[in-house]
Amino acid sequence: MDSVDVKFVLVETSHPGNIGGAARAMKNMCLDQLALVNPNRYPSADATSRASGADDILMNAGIHETVDQALEGCAFVMGTSARPRGLYIPELTPKQCAERILAESTQGKVAVLFGREDSGLTNGELDRCNALMRIPTSQEYSSLNLAAAVQVLSYELMIQRGEAPLQRPIGEGERRHPLANADEMEGLFNHIEESIIATGFLDPENPRQVMRRLRRLFNRADVDRNEVNILRGILTSVQETVRKV
Ligand code: SAH
Repeated sequence: MDSVDVKFVLVETSHPGNIGGAARAMKNMCLDQLALVNPNRYPSADATSRASGADDILMNAGIHETVDQALEGCAFVMGTSARPRGLYIPELTPKQCAERILAESTQGKVAVLFGREDSGLTNGELDRCNALMRIPTSQEYSSLNLAAAVQVLSYELMIQRGEAPLQRPIGEGERRHPLANADEMEGLFNHIEESIIATGFLDPENPRQVMRRLRRLFNRADVDRNEVNILRGILTSVQETVRKV
């Protein structure tokens, strides 16, 4: 899978565990460019253990003294914030942010800045940003854990790239037989009707909406050929039982 040209920059992270958690969140979602600006404690066993199988992302992470150095060569910079900053930069949802990043990354390298656990990004750092992502949250408590914020954006990027290998129509994975065609469904409905007339459940003089409701039920259910055969086998056995009594 091609990687999108986006670099996540963690600015002055205090807890090394969050760096590891961010690396893991990125690797899960097929992202691999991590940069650290002046991390408080790094390298650290906490970071490596929280990264789990994503320690390669940590090993390849660029470490910089300043945000400017981390942003060198980047064409587009996205900021992130837990609270509205009123700085006249456009605020995007994670989905809008992912769309924008993918569009911009075809033109040049994109960086996303993630702020300090206690105070976020400074206004000066936000001045470097072309847009700002704010993850919608409870109004009472808007600050996500840093690695969780990284996870939300990484996930949206994965979805927007159409790289969701697990996505498939409901039930598709279990289907080993082709869907029943219109003739087979008609055969099933006729068989049901005959059988429930034979058992006395349906009065042909006064059928009401029973068959229409049963049609709705089965037409909704994506019935496959094998399932039609099972149902018709059951109906045949019911008819034979009725004949015997
Ligand atoms: N008290 C800080 C919280 C920082 S949380 C503040 O008010 O800014 C650490 C980092 O996680 C943030 O700088 C941002 O990069 C990210 N983050 C946390 N919650 C977020 C949210 N709701 N939307 C976007 N980013 C968020």
